[in-house]
Amino acid sequence: MNLKLNLLAVFVVFSFPVLVLAQPPTTGHKYSLNTTPYLAKSLAKSTDSNNLNIISTAKFILFHDTNQALSVIKGANIQDVAQVYLNNLEVSANEVEQIFKYSPKQKIVLRLMPRYKFVRDLKAPRWANALYHNHEIIIPLDNGSKNIVKNNTTLQNTLRHEYTHALISEIAGEKCPAWLDEGLAQMLESKQNNLLAPALKNWLATNSSNLSIQKLSTGFINIDQQTASIAYAKSLYATKYLVAKHGMAKVLIFLKSLKNNTNEELAFKSAFGITLEEFSLALDKSLAQWFNADSNSI
Ligand SMILES: [Zn+2]
Repeated sequence: MNLKLNLLAVFVVFSFPVLVLAQPPTTGHKYSLNTTPYLAKSLAKSTDSNNLNIISTAKFILFHDTNQALSVIKGANIQDVAQVYLNNLEVSANEVEQIFKYSPKQKIVLRLMPRYKFVRDLKAPRWANALYHNHEIIIPLDNGSKNIVKNNTTLQNTLRHEYTHALISEIAGEKCPAWLDEGLAQMLESKQNNLLAPALKNWLATNSSNLSIQKLSTGFINIDQQTASIAYAKSLYATKYLVAKHGMAKVLIFLKSLKNNTNEELAFKSAFGITLEEFSLALDKSLAQWFNADSNSI
């Protein structure tokens, strides 16, 4: 989940079927621009709370809200849950860093908070399992959270997705196009959401809305929840196609040149040797072939 206000970016992932069982077929969502200052303010307020427990490691700072969290996770010790999240984040971070060949220069915050607070104070969608915002990975806890610690795949999917956003944000200086940002985050999850391919297929069959990668570059802000699932599916397909054709090393060159303030079109042409328009046309051809081949996965 994200958006470009340049300094403020918010990313959300939700994976199935963890915290909310009856979720729509979407793996993430972008906040609208005007919710972001609210989120930033609310987070700043949370940091001042006296009820926070803090664990600091070489790479991460974990905050968890002691009072409320105790009442939302029945039968589980919040300290134990927090430690499981932190341990899994360390593992996920190492894996993602190896793929990107990059380690962040500053510590990333992992913030655990009760779900009601996540929805009420941060205006996060109820279905969201996590969000990334300005060097913070924020995860809501509820009564289902004690189950998540037993499901390593789901937990690591969420953490790998959000940590990828954190790395990209630093590498590209918050300037990565949304489709590539969400595409890479989904690609690095260890297990693909199996609702994405049907959503993409259905869209290709009906051609219901224009979701070119150019349209998906600034965020998934003004699209409804159903269309968001297609946006995430297309972002994943486009990113996999780009990496398969040109390799991860060129993707990294592209991201780094964005941070150096190179215009996106120029940076794309310079990294991949084709224009964004040419890539978009080739992508649509590849999508049509995928559709006709009747594949079950992206
Ligand atoms: Zn995301």
